Amino acid sequence: MGEYFLSQLTIRSLCGNLIDMVFDIPQNPTIKDIHNLYLTSQAKVTQVVEYFFEKIKQKDPNIQAVVRYNENLANQQASKLDNMIVNRTQIEIDDLLQKMPLFGVPYAMKDNVLVEGQLLTAQSRILDGYEATYSADIFEYLTEAGAVLIAQTNMDEFAFGSSTEFSGFGQITKNPWDNNRVAGGTSGGSAALVASGGVSFAIGTDTGGSIRQPSSFCGVVGMRPTYGSVSRYGIVASTSSFDQAGPISNSVEDNELILKVLQKKSNNDQTSIVTENRGVRSEIVIGFAEEFFGDGLDDRVSEVFGELKKKLSQTHQVRLVSLPMSKYNLSVYYILQTVEAAANLERFDSIRYGQQIGAGEMFFGGRGEYLGDETKRRIMLGTYTSSSGYYDAYYNKACQVRELISQDFVKAFESVDVLVMPASPYPAFGIGENSSDPMSMYLADIMTVSQPISKLPALVVPGSMVKSDDAQLPVGIQLVGAQGNEETLYKLGKEIVCLS
Ligand code: GLN
Repeated sequence: MGEYFLSQLTIRSLCGNLIDMVFDIPQNPTIKDIHNLYLTSQAKVTQVVEYFFEKIKQKDPNIQAVVRYNENLANQQASKLDNMIVNRTQIEIDDLLQKMPLFGVPYAMKDNVLVEGQLLTAQSRILDGYEATYSADIFEYLTEAGAVLIAQTNMDEFAFGSSTEFSGFGQITKNPWDNNRVAGGTSGGSAALVASGGVSFAIGTDTGGSIRQPSSFCGVVGMRPTYGSVSRYGIVASTSSFDQAGPISNSVEDNELILKVLQKKSNNDQTSIVTENRGVRSEIVIGFAEEFFGDGLDDRVSEVFGELKKKLSQTHQVRLVSLPMSKYNLSVYYILQTVEAAANLERFDSIRYGQQIGAGEMFFGGRGEYLGDETKRRIMLGTYTSSSGYYDAYYNKACQVRELISQDFVKAFESVDVLVMPASPYPAFGIGENSSDPMSMYLADIMTVSQPISKLPALVVPGSMVKSDDAQLPVGIQLVGAQGNEETLYKLGKEIVCLS
């Protein structure tokens, strides 16, 4: 990964012949690398799409990131795009690339984003065979910008989990840096596919860390945007007041470009907002919150952040801040998450959606048979904490504490612009290591739940690598900003990538 080479693949052309393709692009190409192929007339979109299909098919058996290829859709769209550049001069193509910033860029999307006419399961057996009847807003925006969907990626069932070991269909995504370790979850398929060079970007969703933690584990760039800035229309709902979709990419520059395409006010989503552009201050003041560097942090992660702090102190003001309500982060998250998830999952009743089991048993029979253990656990927890006898003690209380956690951040952002913290207390853990103990899996989210609780944007960029057994593993750096402050996060993210 990371190295530059002439990519050569033997592929089957559309008319069935085997042909050698030599593209002048790196193993992990950026959008610019792909656009260069069009500008220099080295390739057509259909060929680039074919090239990536073939590349994924060679790599995916080891990492198991893809659940479905969208060959027909991709080829149709690629041909349309090819018609737009045929017989065009370089200047005209350049002009087109300005207007369609993702022109001819193949990408993958998590299996919980609807695309009309394509299958989707959110990796739950209850949705086996479901074909989407409409498309998510974000799919439409990406298509308008010229991006070409080529594959849908693996995830934990309904986006509950932290490892991508819990698809209802049994597929476990492996970390490209060490196949015995998890890719992180729940957008592990998207992160692993980008890290392996199968696509230059993929879409993930993040309720409580599902873009950021796998990005950290796989050494790629992942953004969870300000809540409401990316439309949730057409995305399978987990926790409506936390869920946000965002880009996972090889470079910070690409991530920023893709986010601009995704952030749009939508009339289809009542929580959709246009965030106020706060601009970037010339001197970014950086904060380290003591609560995120205490007990339980892996020594190697702690060292990476110690080094980073030293380096950043040479060029920035660095301040120590406190987020005293942090001790309630996980409790608040798991109460609110399960209550909202239980309500959202009611629609999967084996009548409107889902497979049916014998006439009298539709609801309980279908749910009992086709939902996984973690999904059932969330339904039970959420139903309990929002039931009439316990509503005040749990759900209402958690809503109040949510407000206090958010106020901590508001206060911190009075004195700093960006908070720097890990995205996970440790690098990627082994497959099976946490899977039999739900509590230890929930604890893995300790660094990534307070940002959705407070509706804040957070970016993960690759930091230094650390040694683990025989492998080198990435450690991601998480940058958290005030609502609408994505631009500042990207600016600092670019700087940090250069330091690592
Ligand atoms: N690990 C967290 C959970 O299981 C977050 C998942 C997510 O962001 N989708 O709820």
